[in-house]
Amino acid sequence: MTERKITYLRVSVTDHCNYRCFYCMPKGMPEHLPHSEILRYEEIDTIVRAGAVFGINKVRITGGEPLVRRDVVELVRKLQDVEGLREICMTTNGSLLAQYARPLRDAGLGRINISVDSLIPARFRRITGGGRLSDVFNGIDAAQEAGFTNTKINVVLMRGVNDDELPRFADFAAGHGLEVRFIEVMPLSQSVEDSAPFFIGFDEIRRRLHNLHSLERLETEPGAPAQLRYRLVGTRGIVGVIAPISRPFCAECNRLRLSADGRLYACLMAAAHVDVKSILRASGGEARLIDAFGRAAALKPPCHNGCSSTLMSRIGG
Ligand code: SAM
Ligand code: SF4
Repeated sequence: MTERKITYLRVSVTDHCNYRCFYCMPKGMPEHLPHSEILRYEEIDTIVRAGAVFGINKVRITGGEPLVRRDVVELVRKLQDVEGLREICMTTNGSLLAQYARPLRDAGLGRINISVDSLIPARFRRITGGGRLSDVFNGIDAAQEAGFTNTKINVVLMRGVNDDELPRFADFAAGHGLEVRFIEVMPLSQSVEDSAPFFIGFDEIRRRLHNLHSLERLETEPGAPAQLRYRLVGTRGIVGVIAPISRPFCAECNRLRLSADGRLYACLMAAAHVDVKSILRASGGEARLIDAFGRAAALKPPCHNGCSSTLMSRIGG
């Protein structure tokens, strides 16, 4: 039984996405979940309320692509009322943010992370299976105009795919006053062999950043995934590295993950979970849901095995 304090819940609201990033949705992926298996917003709300009693104080809405699910702004608004939650954030591919940034801000969303793996339109299209980079740029601008601050850009850095853009991303961070975080690619259960040739680890990313810029080391929050953060000296830009494979942060990990089909996972990379949807649909009251959070927390492994247990798009990356 773990003694650590679990305060952060990532909620995947859909397994659908308008992109097909090859490292996230490998070919031959299983069908989408049937509609009846996906949690309804009222159900997510009920589960989050129980989570808040358990000790959750931060929720991140993710997917799949959260903005493809209808009325996700309503979910943000609903969650605003949950007592004990101090922050609701979102991770998105940014493609629909131009339309949603303002309503999300008005609904009370706190912060946004936007995933962008290339700043070259043709390459971006290849990586995402058809995405339009200009949509994401418009989304980033809209987020800034809507008043979002502390916006972070997530880049899965892959050898021979986009690693030559590391300097360009650093310039992008500096030019826009944003934080760009380079993420190690993780193998998925369906495509273990697929990601290995692309993998670039923490040490190499750090070395390449050091070769580029004058960097000032910044503090990292305990439990935060970015193990290394630097200010690009003389700018408002920040760069960071998230290294779940070569520097697992399991010992400080304070999060649980609610999948789109209502399973509470202790770890992105462990199959063990508690089926909260079944508890809820069997008319389990709040006490049983709170107990489910405790049981999921107790499933946290001492350290992960380096391989995602289920589809990223179901569990939320
Ligand atoms: N669609 C949204 C997006 O792309 O930001 C939210 C869901 S996505 C699954 C969340 C994050 O997981 C993204 O930053 C994505 O790059 C990351 N991700 C997906 N598959 C990954 C993998 N195999 N290795 C590392 N990160 C991955
Ligand atoms: Fe979609 Fe995000 Fe996965 Fe890309 S990483 S396919 S945008 S869910």
